[in-house]
Amino acid sequence: MGYKKVKENIYLYTDETFHDVVAGAIELPTKLVMIDTGLNLIEIKEFREWVEKTTGKKFEILFPTHFHGDHTYGNQVFSDCRIISPKIHLEYMKMVKELLTPENLEKEQSRLKDPRALEGLEITLPTETFEGQFEIQDGGVKIVIKNTGGHTIDSSYIYCPNYKVLFAGDNLFVNSSPYGGHSTCNPETWLEVYREFLTLDAETIIPGHGPVADKSYIEKEISFMESFKETAKELASKGVAEEEILESCYQTFFPPKDSEEDDSFQRNTVKRWYDVWIKGAE
Ligand SMILES: [Zn+2]
Repeated sequence: MGYKKVKENIYLYTDETFHDVVAGAIELPTKLVMIDTGLNLIEIKEFREWVEKTTGKKFEILFPTHFHGDHTYGNQVFSDCRIISPKIHLEYMKMVKELLTPENLEKEQSRLKDPRALEGLEITLPTETFEGQFEIQDGGVKIVIKNTGGHTIDSSYIYCPNYKVLFAGDNLFVNSSPYGGHSTCNPETWLEVYREFLTLDAETIIPGHGPVADKSYIEKEISFMESFKETAKELASKGVAEEEILESCYQTFFPPKDSEEDDSFQRNTVKRWYDVWIKGAE
């Protein structure tokens, strides 16, 4: 299993069977805080038990980074905790709950290596909401959760200046292409979020997917997005047709690894970024 202590007070769970999605725990002086919950109910429960045993402390708070199922399906394992999120996140979670019919659950299970991982899934909603940002303090250690948007409108980062750690959620993908295909993704906001990450005193940056990174990776991602934006704008200014721009940006920035691979995530990302940057979509 992908459980590990990455540094003092920080524990991570990585699901290697689902795009290396990450969930993690911060150990505070008197309690534990969870960030995201993955989509494997069996493993996230084991992770919780392992961290509580290792630290001798209990989880009391869960902060979600955004509503996507690979980050929130495990919430029910933390239903005894305060689940604190931006107000907009609650709205999206309510939609997720409404959409989770038995047929849709089956579809979700079919995406997994082990469908039992989602057996008995119940969408578990936040218990408290805030707007903008929210802070907790415990024995002089501070944790901030800030709703920034970017990847999705409800995306937030979680930052602990004392431990110099940042949980970026899906505003950071390490070693895989960023996914920006949701109808509320805003790549311009996403770039601002990256720049904000650079201003934080964070040495350990934990992405939504992939291994732990540092600020040099953020700089690389800024160049990647800026370069996409410039390329699309230049082609558009020459009067190149939308379809051709989409294909060209897809080939340049999200090159397919093999022809068998499902590339809808990449193509949807290209389309959404094009819509926002070129067509001015909101
Ligand atoms: Zn994700």
